[in-house]
Amino acid sequence: MQYLIHYAPALAAKDSSSTKDQSNNEDPFAHPVPELTVLDDLNGTGSYQLLLNKFPVVPEHVLLVTKQFESQSDALSPEDLVATYQLLCKMDDEDENKRHMAFYNSGPASGSSQDHKHLQLFQLPSNFIPLQDKICSGKEHFLPGFNAEPLQDAKVSFAHFVLPLPESSDEVDEDLLAMCYISLLQRALTFFQDWTNERPDLKKSYNVLLTKNWICVVPRSKSVAEIEDEDTETMHLGINATGYAGMILAKDEAIYNKIVGEPRVIDQALLNCGFPNTSGQKPTEYHY
Ligand code: AMP
Ligand code: AMP
Repeated sequence: MQYLIHYAPALAAKDSSSTKDQSNNEDPFAHPVPELTVLDDLNGTGSYQLLLNKFPVVPEHVLLVTKQFESQSDALSPEDLVATYQLLCKMDDEDENKRHMAFYNSGPASGSSQDHKHLQLFQLPSNFIPLQDKICSGKEHFLPGFNAEPLQDAKVSFAHFVLPLPESSDEVDEDLLAMCYISLLQRALTFFQDWTNERPDLKKSYNVLLTKNWICVVPRSKSVAEIEDEDTETMHLGINATGYAGMILAKDEAIYNKIVGEPRVIDQALLNCGFPNTSGQKPTEYHY
C-alpha cells in the first residue's frame, strides 16, 4: 500500500487554540460565510450546498453539506450518493489530468469533527495510487451475492470492502449506488454486532470512500491511533477516511519522523482504528 504523508503543524495549533470552530459547539455549516460558499444550491434540488473547506491540506477540498441539519451518524441516502457521484464526474471532467475522491466519516469513531451531515471531495494528488485503485485494477463492476464477496486486499491489516463501479457513468444511477453502498455497509455493521460482548461501548462508525471508479466502506473502532515509541511518550495519530486510501496527516514533528522512519506503524495504526481484515473468510462466518 502506497502512503502519502502530509505534514501540517499549523493544524495542531488549530486543535488546541480558541480558533477551533467547534469551541462554542456552534454548527459551522448552519450559516456559512459567503467567502467559503461555492454554491448555495448544488444541484437545483435545494438539498445541498457546496462549501470550501476552511482548513484544507490538499487543493480543491470542498464540503457537500445538507442545507437542513441532518446527523453525521445517519446513513447516506440514495440522493446523497448520486449528488456526490455527479459532482465527482463534473470535477473530474474539468481536467483530464485531475481525479477526485469523495469521503464520508460517519459515527464517533470515524474521525469526523462536525455533526452536521457533510461529504467531502478533494483532488487526489497526482502520482498517488490509493489502495482501492490497485484492488479494482482490471476488475469489472459486480454486486455482492452468494458467490461474490466485496473485494478486500489480504495484504493489509484492516478490514475494508470495495466494489468496482461501471466504467461508463451512464450506467451509474441512484439505485446502483444505493445497492453498492448498502451491501458494503452491511458487511461493516457486522463487526459491531460481533464485538458487542467484548466492547459494549463501541458505537457504529465507518468511512465511505468514493471515486468514479470504485466505492469502499471501512468499519471503524477508534478515531485516534496510539503509537508506542521506546524513547518518547505514546504518540497519537488521528485517522479519517483518507487514511484508508493511504493518506496520512501528521500534525507534529515527532509523529512525522516516527512514521517516515518506520512506515509499518501506519498499517498498525490503521488496524488499531479499524477491525482485522476478513479476506478469505466465508461470508457466513461474519454476515450481518
Ligand atoms: P470532519 O472533520 O470529517 O467532520 O470534516 C469537517 C470539515 O469541516 C473539516 O475538513 C474542517 O476543516 C472543515 N471545517 C470546519 N469548520 C469549518 C467552517 N467554518 N467552514 C468550512 N469548513 C469548516
Ligand atoms: P482535522 O483537524 O484532523 O479535522 O484535519 C484538518 C484538515 O485536514 C481537515 O480539513 C481534514 O479534512 C483534512 N485532512 C485530514 N486528514 C487528511 C489527509 N490524510 N489528507 C488530506 N487532508 C486531510
